[in-house]
Amino acid sequence: MDSDFFRAWLADAADAVEAQRDHLTQLDAAIGDADHGINLSRGFGAIMTALRDTSTPTPGSVLVLAGSTLISKVGGASGPLYGMAFRQAGKALADVPEADPQSLAGALEAGLAGVQKLGAAREGEKTMVDALAPAVSAFGKALSEGAPESEAFEAMAAAASAGAQATISMQALKGRASYLGPRSVGHEDPGAASTALILGALKDVALRLRRDQ
Ligand code: ADP
Ligand code: MG
Repeated sequence: MDSDFFRAWLADAADAVEAQRDHLTQLDAAIGDADHGINLSRGFGAIMTALRDTSTPTPGSVLVLAGSTLISKVGGASGPLYGMAFRQAGKALADVPEADPQSLAGALEAGLAGVQKLGAAREGEKTMVDALAPAVSAFGKALSEGAPESEAFEAMAAAASAGAQATISMQALKGRASYLGPRSVGHEDPGAASTALILGALKDVALRLRRDQ
């Protein structure tokens, strides 16, 4: 997977965020401050502009630029958290010209570790971690079991979606939604929903661009 692959992922993710912008904002209206779709739309729009204007010859440079852009352009909790995820994932890929699935798995793990270092959320606390963590482990597990690459991407995206759905019954213990206490139960976490979208875009791009692998 070269830098074009990672740019295609971010472009697909930007499209998905744009298409679901109002939905993400509605999820945040229920348990937050109704800005999650707006934040991510602004952030991914800025990523697209930055990628157009900046040379990013390696997968790592694509992800680091995306992360830095989110940190500088998005207010709210999700900008720094997603920014950290992309930056740490990019740093893990260093300056290799192509990432294989195993190194992508390592990069996603580094992204998760970055989110948890910054936000201190564990699984079960109704955050983006509840989509990201199971997705990262499903991807790594499928690869280590020797599953075809396409199945590993599908398992990752499915785990992210299931993880996001599972936040509905959780009580928020981190972030703005935690102020609601038990009243946060019964709503999908917006950040978990957007993580499922972003990783769904990764799966779609992998199935589209890597059909021959
Ligand atoms: P804000 O809460 O500042 O308005 P957003 O609405 O853009 O920011 O993002 C909210 C999302 O951020 C939540 O749905 C949750 O998934 C995520 N989030 C908030 N705090 C944390 C944290 N400490 N760790 C991980 N994710 C978090
Ligand atoms: Mg919000």
